Amino acid sequence: MRRIIALALVCACFLTGCAPAGREPKDPEKLQVVATIFPAYDFARAAAGDLAQAALLLPPGAESHSYEPTPADILAVRDCDLFVYLGGESDHWVETILDNIDFQGRALRMVDCVDLLEEETREGMQESPGHRHDHGDHDHGPGEVVGMDEHVWTAPRNAAAVTRAVGEALAELDGARGERYRANAEAYAARLEALDGEFAAFFAEPENRTMVFGDRFPLRYFAEAYGLDYYAAFPGCGAQTEPSAATVAFLTEKVEAEGLDTVWYIEFSNHLVADSIAEAAGADTALFHTCHNVARADLEAGATYLSLMEGNLEALRARRR
Ligand SMILES: [Zn+2]
Repeated sequence: MRRIIALALVCACFLTGCAPAGREPKDPEKLQVVATIFPAYDFARAAAGDLAQAALLLPPGAESHSYEPTPADILAVRDCDLFVYLGGESDHWVETILDNIDFQGRALRMVDCVDLLEEETREGMQESPGHRHDHGDHDHGPGEVVGMDEHVWTAPRNAAAVTRAVGEALAELDGARGERYRANAEAYAARLEALDGEFAAFFAEPENRTMVFGDRFPLRYFAEAYGLDYYAAFPGCGAQTEPSAATVAFLTEKVEAEGLDTVWYIEFSNHLVADSIAEAAGADTALFHTCHNVARADLEAGATYLSLMEGNLEALRARRR
């Protein structure tokens, strides 16, 4: 990984002046915001409104955990005014980049905007080899968050907190229009908090509170926000996709014992594990979007973090017994 970034840094030096592919041309009158992953981009563009330009580094449809920056991405980071990134294990490459480019802008980490929760492995889950404790050739840098769950955006109230922080950062960078950035951020944050209230009302019913995922479970913050009782095949976002027979049996028994009619899977999953549990337990499957990234068609159709999470709430209500 480090070698790849070093090579990308070298290439970046020869590419000055090239606009990143697939992003709108820069408007010199506007602040430039660059974000690593979809939720960061979504909160940034909400706070920016039409006052600043936001760009997403992760290509639509790409797996966020294996993303590596291209030379053009590194230039986009170097030249932006505000860089919004997660600050977790999946974008630890950022620290290497920021140490090696002459970055004059401001960097904002999503993990610094909220209270962090530790990674958790629950009963029935399989530990993923290659995740948590094995970080390849990566050494932990100062300030890096280790052992904490990085999926902070999955709770809508955290999403609101990040949106406000982005608005505040833009306001500080462009004081003349500061109140307009703050108003943009506040308008989106208010909608996120209204959605948070709707989820809370839904999960206030005890019979709605147990969820079984035949998949990875990157929803620790979401689960914590509403007191969910959840079971899943794998923790967080490890690479493992083959569960043991014991894991499948445990989750199947949970679905049956709790009388659940849904086994959930997440976006970009082949949902084979969810399918086999659902088939064994006589349940259906449904998608819960964790908003790591969106497909290109969804992005072009105007999908937002808010619309994806509203879709999750609709799916939950539709599956209600
Ligand atoms: Zn993840």
